[in-house]
Amino acid sequence: MPSQPPEYIDPLRLADARAVLQGQVAVSSMARLAPSLCSTQGAVDFELAFSVDMEGIRCIHGSLRTQLDVVCQRCLQPMKLPLEAKVALGVVASMQEAGRLPSAYEPLIVGAEPVSLNEMIEDELLLVLPVAPMHPEQQCPAWQERVVEEEQDELAQEDRKNPFAVLAQLKKM
Ligand SMILES: [Zn+2]
Repeated sequence: MPSQPPEYIDPLRLADARAVLQGQVAVSSMARLAPSLCSTQGAVDFELAFSVDMEGIRCIHGSLRTQLDVVCQRCLQPMKLPLEAKVALGVVASMQEAGRLPSAYEPLIVGAEPVSLNEMIEDELLLVLPVAPMHPEQQCPAWQERVVEEEQDELAQEDRKNPFAVLAQLKKM
C-alpha cells in the first residue's frame, strides 16, 4: 500500500537524498483552486523526483495528473477537465537566487517556513489551469448549436441576397 504523502516537505533534504515522492492529494485540500471548480471531488496523482543537477542546483522533476470538475465557459455545463502538468522546479533560497536559475526551472523559494506539499502541487496546477476551460468543440452542446445557427444564418442570408439580385437584374433591363 502506498504510504500517505507527508503534509510538509524539506525539498533540500529530499534533493540531497535523491528522494522520490509518489501519491495522491485531495483536490478538496486546495483552497485557491476551489473558486475555479464546480466540485472539489477527486485527487491529483503526483510523482516527484528530487535531485541535484550537474550544476549543483537542487531540483524537482515530475508530473501531476488529475481530472478537475469545471464549468465549460461556452455552454456553462459542468465538465471533466483532464489536466497534466510537468514539474521542473529549482529550489532556491531567495528571489535573487531565483533570477539566476536556468530558464528550464520554475523557482521554488524555500525559506524558514516548511513547504506544504499540497500548496506546491496546487501552485503547479494553477499555472496550467486554462482561464476559460471548454469542452472540445465536437462535444460542446453550445458549439453544436452555434454551428446549426450559423448554417441557418447562411441560408437566411442567401434568401436576403436574392431580392437584391432580382433588383439588380431589373435595373439592367
Ligand atoms: Zn461546453
